[in-house]
Amino acid sequence: MRKTLLIGGGVIVALVAIGLAALRIPSVDMWLFRHAAARIVSRPAPVLAKADELSVLLCGTGTPLPDRTRAGPCALVAAGDRLYVIDVGIGSVRNMLLWRLPLAKVRGVLLTHFHSDHIPELGEIRLQTWVAGRRTHLPVSGPPGVGRVVAGFEEAYALDTQYRTAHHGADFLPPGAAALDAKPVPIPQDAPTAVVLDDHGLKITAIRVHHDPAKPAYGYRFDYKGRSVVISGDTTPDEDLAQAARGADVLVHEGLQPEMVAALGDALKTAEKWRAAKIMHDIPGYHSSPVGAARIANEAGAKRLVFTHMLPPLPNAAARRMFLNGVAAVRPDGVELGHDGLLIRLPAGSDAIEETSLDD
Ligand SMILES: [Zn+2]
Ligand SMILES: [Zn+2]
Repeated sequence: MRKTLLIGGGVIVALVAIGLAALRIPSVDMWLFRHAAARIVSRPAPVLAKADELSVLLCGTGTPLPDRTRAGPCALVAAGDRLYVIDVGIGSVRNMLLWRLPLAKVRGVLLTHFHSDHIPELGEIRLQTWVAGRRTHLPVSGPPGVGRVVAGFEEAYALDTQYRTAHHGADFLPPGAAALDAKPVPIPQDAPTAVVLDDHGLKITAIRVHHDPAKPAYGYRFDYKGRSVVISGDTTPDEDLAQAARGADVLVHEGLQPEMVAALGDALKTAEKWRAAKIMHDIPGYHSSPVGAARIANEAGAKRLVFTHMLPPLPNAAARRMFLNGVAAVRPDGVELGHDGLLIRLPAGSDAIEETSLDD
């Protein structure tokens, strides 16, 4: 009896709320808005890595081909509370904001190469880390040439910086902190790698990969407390990368499925879309087939291979299966397709590879 009354009371309250909302009474709308806003802004930031963890978050797994489900290429590596962003594709910084990442903790950006799909949100990461409270310049490391790219973004965002400081005040947005600092990392010709940073147990190594005519192009290896992550950047299957990725816990590798790209090219020719068809014809030569990437992962002895920058777009399960066609014969285990929001955590002193998704 009492339960029936309670349920009846709840239904009446719900009906009254729906009725008031239906009447569009501004004070009710505002109450609902305040309630929703308080709930949304009080959500805690996700923990990317505990003090003794290394982790990698995929903040963009797409390519230049448009895909609503994937931002452009981007990964974020966390060593404790030190964050590094590798490439900044379209939509990647928006992902970071939607996931409420602590952007003031970004210590640096590392660019793999200067193709347009890897650099477009350099201005956005500059702005959003500054607005989040970054108080020193943001280093941007990359192959020689990074100075030109950074200088261009600095010029493009100079007026925006002035406007925001004038509007919010120099205490809140100090203009001296806004800038990006280019840090070219040359790799000597007779060496495959160069150290980018070796600081308080975190070592970052640049690895020369092959993506001509984007030359030089780099991958990066992160080592922290006995755990390691390697990001391939864009490359053909590369022996130097396999050597430099030796024993890595996670290898995040690009992949282009040549038969699928050829089929897409055929469809474009049939549709007389000659320019797009030519591009499909040209691109396999400077990327890695999934089977080629799996061979490199095996050679490196990498425990987990995670694909990113997958070509062509993979809109359904059948396409995802086709992308991996032949991979199991080379590497039966330890392979997966990445997705935006995939967070892989590597606790120190263990072999554990823990996966979660920030989009869940
Ligand atoms: Zn590229
Ligand atoms: Zn690319």
